[in-house]
Amino acid sequence: MTSRATRAARAGLPAAHETTASVTPIYQTTAFDVDSLDQLEAISSSRIHGHIYTRDSNPNHDALAADIAALEGAADGVVFASGMGGLSATLLSRLKTRDHLIAAAGLYGRTVQLIEHLRDSYGIEVTFVDVTDPQQFADAVRPETRLCLVESVSNPMLEVADLPAIREALGSVPLMVDSTFTTPSLLRPLEHGANLVFHSVSKYLNGHGDVMMGAVVGESDDMAAVRHIVSLYGMNANPFDCWLSSRGLRTLELRMRQHCSNAQQLAAALMRTRGVKHVYYPGLTTHGSHSVARRLLPDGFGGMLSFELAGGRSAVNQFIQELAHIPFSPTLADVRTTVSYPAETSHKFISADERMRLGITDGIVRVSVGLEAVDDLIAEFTSAIGASQT
Ligand SMILES: *Cc1c(COP(=O)(O)O)cnc(C)c1O
Repeated sequence: MTSRATRAARAGLPAAHETTASVTPIYQTTAFDVDSLDQLEAISSSRIHGHIYTRDSNPNHDALAADIAALEGAADGVVFASGMGGLSATLLSRLKTRDHLIAAAGLYGRTVQLIEHLRDSYGIEVTFVDVTDPQQFADAVRPETRLCLVESVSNPMLEVADLPAIREALGSVPLMVDSTFTTPSLLRPLEHGANLVFHSVSKYLNGHGDVMMGAVVGESDDMAAVRHIVSLYGMNANPFDCWLSSRGLRTLELRMRQHCSNAQQLAAALMRTRGVKHVYYPGLTTHGSHSVARRLLPDGFGGMLSFELAGGRSAVNQFIQELAHIPFSPTLADVRTTVSYPAETSHKFISADERMRLGITDGIVRVSVGLEAVDDLIAEFTSAIGASQT
């Protein structure tokens, strides 16, 4: 009989599996026990697939990364503790001092800050270009250009990147697409010449507003380089978050269909609402990116839209307080509809001039359209907008 102390120290060891679990269990473990030095060597040198330490790999990482890679049509994928962790790891895996990066102006605010940090602290050079003008991409290419980063659909003006035209303009420069707004159910950037596809999994892929995670997919060699950075810098995802995201991913197609349908109908209703100066949604013929969107997004234009309220900041402030149920929340892609105010959240850190240049006036409200009954959404928006104009 083992002593109590010994029994306690060995508590929680896995029972032999008698039946197969229907879903990948949560491997909430720091390390994996190894049978022999030969096995250790075989796993470390990738001769056999296995796990040693969760900072390096874990079955829950694998399960989620493999699914996202398969949906994107990629060879391999890596998941991270957040979207920003994923962007950091991917950029650090490819760029060193004096290398050059081309980036779309108006990227997600923190992404711009990350790029500026890499520029100012590590001497990585960067050129920001207008995502709607492929010629600017061609003009920006230099011998030391190592990567180009764009978002498939921008925030909050919902401009759609013409990926085939950008691919052509870049020549052989690798293209990385942040496809957070589109997801593989609406767009597969690799089919249009991208080399790497990034997602903030915190958004639609998990889809339930309860996880922070990122993912990147691409060629196996590129992913090995990213994994090396993840292990060094400790950007690894938490197994439980992977498990939640794998669960969310199962309903991605259904959710995206409903997000798109609700957003299209809400956009049309807002166009008819007094007090709304302009509606930005790629599914509207009035949007500057509509023709690109029709070509690249045949299955739907996404769940994000923005509108400009007459009366500027004070009308927006009133509108937010008049909303009965829809929360002001600086995130997106939740099951429930949320509204945000880019001028003071996502784009707070850029200059007022640059904000105006991007079209982010102080009347712009961004909406992440959720899965509610669309008539309830239209009624709540129309009523709150009406009250904001008095
Ligand atoms: C949220 C977001 C990110 C950052 O991801 P986190 O998971 O919040 O770290 C990057 N790009 C886009 C387009 C995003 O919406």
